[in-house]
Amino acid sequence: LAKESSHQPFQFYTPALESRASRMLNQEQLLRQSIALGGFELHYQPQVRTDNGALAGFEALVRWRHPQRGLVSPEEFVALAEARGLITAIDRWVLRQACHEACAWLAQGMPRVPVSVNMSAQEFRHPDLAIDVAAVLAETGLPAQLLHIELTESTLMHSDAQVQRTLHALQQQGVQLAIDDFGTGYSSLAYLRRHPIHQLKIDRSFVTDLTDNEDDAAIVTAIVQMARSLRLGTVAEGVETPAQLALLRQLGCEMAQGYLIAPPMPAEQLLQWQQDYCHKLQSQ
Ligand code: C2E
Ligand code: MG
Ligand code: MG
Ligand code: MG
Repeated sequence: LAKESSHQPFQFYTPALESRASRMLNQEQLLRQSIALGGFELHYQPQVRTDNGALAGFEALVRWRHPQRGLVSPEEFVALAEARGLITAIDRWVLRQACHEACAWLAQGMPRVPVSVNMSAQEFRHPDLAIDVAAVLAETGLPAQLLHIELTESTLMHSDAQVQRTLHALQQQGVQLAIDDFGTGYSSLAYLRRHPIHQLKIDRSFVTDLTDNEDDAAIVTAIVQMARSLRLGTVAEGVETPAQLALLRQLGCEMAQGYLIAPPMPAEQLLQWQQDYCHKLQSQ
């Protein structure tokens, strides 16, 4: 390892040689510290109806307050957290925090719309998930109807009797379940019949080129039609242009989420955003 060019007799380490493995270890240690010390925050992104623009919900998206790098996106740490068995601790914090914050904004006059939280597949292996969710709802006072849980297709594809029991228990409490990134996972749709799902979130990858790519438009049309016949709601992710929104409305997709409506924002900004948005909507 210590290479030929060195005039130092024992060079085991230089920053340039810092391996990917040691960087990961370092990140893992920082992540563990942040979990212990509460170094995360939630941003929320609104969802609106495509037909009349009405506010329909908020999705909670976690950010890591990294000691050196500032706010870090989940794209950069969720995979590591999953690999190291740390995601449960993060997701549980997210669940409790989102329920708390949703209760707080309800008390300040926010319309009664649901908050969605993302849950990693690992979560559903815990036999107590449904009980823990019930406990958080009781503790925070958020009505179960105002909590949605987003899960991935892979959670459902690999579901066993335990996962099915958990999903049914959540549904019985009144919590609704949405499939995130729908269409990117698996080609078998049989799992939709076996699980109590309420909503499909059409992945951004089908929305991006929707207005100029006929194949994407065909896929979105098919998803929306299938969702209708199965009585599932539909949300399009990553809506960035008025043309996309107009076409989604025309295709019958019920809801939209994306930068066109608003980016994810800190909890303190939500109420103001909602008031401005409603004024704009009424004056149209
Ligand atoms: P997701 O659940 O599909 O969330 C949507 C992602 O798309 C968010 O990225 C959001 O900021 C981004 N986005 C929203 N609108 C637009 C748009 O118009 N254009 C583009 N280009 N992007 C848009 P974010 O916040 O970086 O989250 C990434 C992923 O991390 C999420 O994807 C979700 O799978 C995961 N994630 C977020 N929070 C949590 C969490 O609390 N627990 C777990 N397990 N995963 C989480
Ligand atoms: Mg999501
Ligand atoms: Mg998604
Ligand atoms: Mg996505």
